[in-house]
Amino acid sequence: MAGGGSPKKGSQITWKKGDDVPYAALTNTFEAIESTTKRLQITADLTDFFKRVLQLSPHNLVACIYLCLNRVGPEYEGKELGIGESILIKAIAEATARSAASIKSELAEKGDLGDIAQSSKGKQKSLFKPAALTVPSVFKTLKEISAIMGTSSQQKKIALIKKMLSACQGNEPKFLIRSLEGKLRIGVAERTVLPALANATVAMNPDFAKWSTAKREQELEEAASVIKQVYSELPTYDEIVPALLEKGTKGLAEACKLRPGVPLKPMLAHPTKAISEVLDRFEDMSFTCEYKYDGERAQIHMLEDGTVMIYSRNSENLSAKYPDVIERLHKIPKEGVKSFVLDGECVAWDREKKCILPFQVLSTRKRKDVQTADIQVQVCIFGFDLIYLNGEALTKEPLIKRRELLHTSFKEVEGEFAFAKYMDGNTVEEIQTFLDEAVAGNCEGLMVKTLEKEASYEPSKRSRNWLKVKKDYLSGAGDSLDLVVMGGYLGKGKRTGWYGGYLLACWDDDREEYQSICKIGTGFSEEQLAEHAKFFKAHIIDRPRPYYRYTDTPNLRPDVWFEPVQVWEVKAADLSISPVHQAAIGLVDSSKGISLRFPRFIRVRDDKSPEQATSATQVAEFYRNQKINSAKGGKDEDDD
Ligand code: ATP
Repeated sequence: MAGGGSPKKGSQITWKKGDDVPYAALTNTFEAIESTTKRLQITADLTDFFKRVLQLSPHNLVACIYLCLNRVGPEYEGKELGIGESILIKAIAEATARSAASIKSELAEKGDLGDIAQSSKGKQKSLFKPAALTVPSVFKTLKEISAIMGTSSQQKKIALIKKMLSACQGNEPKFLIRSLEGKLRIGVAERTVLPALANATVAMNPDFAKWSTAKREQELEEAASVIKQVYSELPTYDEIVPALLEKGTKGLAEACKLRPGVPLKPMLAHPTKAISEVLDRFEDMSFTCEYKYDGERAQIHMLEDGTVMIYSRNSENLSAKYPDVIERLHKIPKEGVKSFVLDGECVAWDREKKCILPFQVLSTRKRKDVQTADIQVQVCIFGFDLIYLNGEALTKEPLIKRRELLHTSFKEVEGEFAFAKYMDGNTVEEIQTFLDEAVAGNCEGLMVKTLEKEASYEPSKRSRNWLKVKKDYLSGAGDSLDLVVMGGYLGKGKRTGWYGGYLLACWDDDREEYQSICKIGTGFSEEQLAEHAKFFKAHIIDRPRPYYRYTDTPNLRPDVWFEPVQVWEVKAADLSISPVHQAAIGLVDSSKGISLRFPRFIRVRDDKSPEQATSATQVAEFYRNQKINSAKGGKDEDDD
């Protein structure tokens, strides 16, 4: 992680009770956090900061949290910062009386625009001292900037950034610029913010000092679990924080419940290698097998006023992509259904032949500004779960009950909405036959789910109560990986003018970096090669990001680096320990990473953000799970 020493203890900024939190108090916290990679220390620093905010300025807590997460609102609202380099350079130049050219050349040398803004400000002598920035004023301006669109938007953004920069002091320019870039990268994510929030809230209890260590630990654990659970069902701090302030953690779950209009984080499944593994897992439990449809996850919400929204796996609002689905959804609820949240898969559908089409067809559908009359690819929704019905969350109910409610509350409409096909038989033969049928019907395989025991809906969890059995696992090909494109190699021969290959990476959550995992050059059609070349042209960067981990050898170094913007699904023959690639470094081998052998491009994963790519931990898990066959000795360590 980049430079910056921890501010000295005495440099902690204080402010008066009831005042707004000075921005410097937050940036000093960032500075302290940046100087460590230890998760416990990061959580402790953040807890300490939240405690002070709770004591002195609880009205600023929401803004503080969003700034820590480098966001301007709930994730599902999709408003992002990510201001372009050229706008920031102009703003820094204007605010510090430097030329844009000199900043550009310094950037080529140093690589971090935040550091450059800070040193440029430091050298500047100002005649008068502008009023210090506060957390709410910075948050408000960032929100404003993220909403600017249309004509002269660039000038408007520059003017607002310049104004903030002019008032910046100390380490503020560094973190302000990084926030604007959308790359704060201090190691603070939801999994740090939520426990820190829980710790700070519990520590505010007037009896805290009197509690025994055991009591404290119990209270902290309970609070962390409640906050995490509530957040997974209603992922918006705008509602959780005020409720927390008013009711404390004990009353939080009652005050903040999942509801239509706010997408919850979907439940995810674990891969399995064989049907026998499924039977081992669910030995004495009732379970069901469902077709695993190959399309796009669709979380469908209907509010009491009849408004319908569709959200992706990633909580992105897909309503503009599926106006046709939105228009006809009113047909599917039976009488008496006033509001719901339904989990399903949106699949391409052949209206003439009345059958499912492969995912590749769905992927050709336009994503934005879709007009119903122009739609070429028709879709059908396959509902597999019901999470909310008429004012009641169903997450705690077992699947058997949720499924019954799904079937009794909705009706199928041919080619538009159907229930996921299921089979409750539990012998290997029955499952195998059902799997064969699923695959013959253009499905990816099966989802096997617990029905009664341990069968609640677990938002945001990759649960062992949902197992996926894909046809590929059984043929030995293993699960696919979703990887981020870091760079490209210029094509030769037939591929001249395009990229002949790409460098791919997994995402390491702990280190917050992309780690190279393989070079890929196969699996692409000519159209795809052309499309990728066109797409990445707009995302070329001068040098690798500081958070790209790769080995800088002539053979591996790409000709062109890209911003981390796209995720590709990739299949490989197997995974091996690598002398050059860096994926999952330290997890399986202390100094070597893991790489993919014979990777093949499958598809672009538009529904995953780069940080939702396969994680380093998953790569390590895939590696450990694959059967290491000594007869294939020499597999490890033989790649470039
Ligand atoms: P993951 O979501 O596990 O990271 P992924 O996005 O690559 O991986 P898959 O491995 O294909 O997804 O498996 C899970 C996905 O399968 C779900 O997110 C959902 O979109 C889809 N799916 C299709 N049919 C079903 C079903 N019957 N039950 C649950 N999910 C289903």
